[in-house]
Amino acid sequence: MRVALEDQVIVITGASRGIGRATALELAKGHARLALLGRDEAALTQAGRAAEALGAEVRCYGGDLRDHARSAAIAQEVQTAFGQVDALVNNAAVGKYGSFLDLGLEDWRQMLEVNVLGLVAVTRAFLPAMLARGSGHILNVSSVQGLRATATSSAYSATKFALMGLSQSLAQDVGARGIRVSVLCPGSVETDFDGFPGYLKPGAMLPEEVAEAIRDMLESAGRVHMSEVVLLPFGKRPTPGS
Ligand code: NAP
Repeated sequence: MRVALEDQVIVITGASRGIGRATALELAKGHARLALLGRDEAALTQAGRAAEALGAEVRCYGGDLRDHARSAAIAQEVQTAFGQVDALVNNAAVGKYGSFLDLGLEDWRQMLEVNVLGLVAVTRAFLPAMLARGSGHILNVSSVQGLRATATSSAYSATKFALMGLSQSLAQDVGARGIRVSVLCPGSVETDFDGFPGYLKPGAMLPEEVAEAIRDMLESAGRVHMSEVVLLPFGKRPTPGS
């Protein structure tokens, strides 16, 4: 069974660029009502305008995920503005790579604070209203690095492994109360994530392709649940505009 996105209220963290922005645009095509979160307010506003042009009702909320009081305030504002939240896409993250001794404790702290604690705080802020309604969907964006780590990714992989455990536990915690929890593990995606320009990732998936998968997961509402989805490139890349 599939649900129409129309009028669904969907919150996306890290919507100012990359996969989050592409997801906002993809969901806008289905006329969802979008709450977009990010730090770079100018980029967020631009993403919001592009989503509005595609037919979505959009509100933007600037804030750093490490500011948990701000996340709680945003959840209140979203609830007041939209009246409900149907889905939360936990997409924002930072990634830094280096051999174990080259990554400093500050790098570890930043990744743990954004990718894990920031996500936990946002989820804690939005979950109670979903539980009260008895429905909702929390979609966490992890990575193939959350399933199998490679050299130079110790800290980033640790945060993405954390999301796998967190998602598996939360799914069992709240599933019987009508809340779906799912986790998406993409391989390499052509964005500027981790300070590496997207164009230097040959063969990587496009953010728009990942956004389509996120849309599929949000629309799927039958008894069969896409709890953990791995995305890898297959075949030739689409040519621009196709
Ligand atoms: P991106 O282009 O770098 O975008 C990251 C987003 O996270 C930005 O919108 C950024 O917002 C936001 N963000 C970062 N730090 C934040 C903070 N402290 N507070 C609030 N927002 C913050 O990266 P992406 O490639 O789209 O990545 C999106 C997700 O996909 C991440 O979870 C990443 O781990 C995952 N992923 C990416 C790849 C890949 O190859 N790109 C592969 C697998 C999984 P501001 O710029 O406004 O701060």
